[in-house]
Amino acid sequence: MSAELEGGCACGAVRYRLATPPMFVHCCHCLDCQRQTGSAFVINALIETARVEILGAEPVRHEMPTESGRPHGIYRCRACGTAVWSEYGGLTTARFVRVGTLDDPPALAPDVHIYVRSKQPWISLPEGVPAFPAYYDAVKLWPAASLARRKALLG
Ligand SMILES: [Zn+2]
Ligand SMILES: [Zn+2]
Repeated sequence: MSAELEGGCACGAVRYRLATPPMFVHCCHCLDCQRQTGSAFVINALIETARVEILGAEPVRHEMPTESGRPHGIYRCRACGTAVWSEYGGLTTARFVRVGTLDDPPALAPDVHIYVRSKQPWISLPEGVPAFPAYYDAVKLWPAASLARRKALLG
């Protein structure tokens, strides 16, 4: 894959490369994501951990409180604190890579908007991209090749 899928933290200590495009890209408008980013939403590229090549320092995990009780770890640069990806539900084989940390963030546009029930009212969603009040059914939305990759992760 080309250098467009490389990224890193603000100080440059953490650098990574996505070996392939992700399985799917979420734009999440939930209140947890808004609080954890200090912004209106987060854009997460869902990809196998094995396809995230660490080129620099290893980011460190920060445990987030969750309402469900399912674990959510945010991985941050030890030096500058930039969050580069999340791990949800204890699934160590998958990463939710923050698209804003790519060197070329427009390389990955959202495939779906989720938790739009808590979307900030001034945001207009694009035509033609599915949007859901809360979560959604990946089986109905993901392309077959991505579903096969997902199945390989989940068993
Ligand atoms: Zn850094
Ligand atoms: Zn969210």
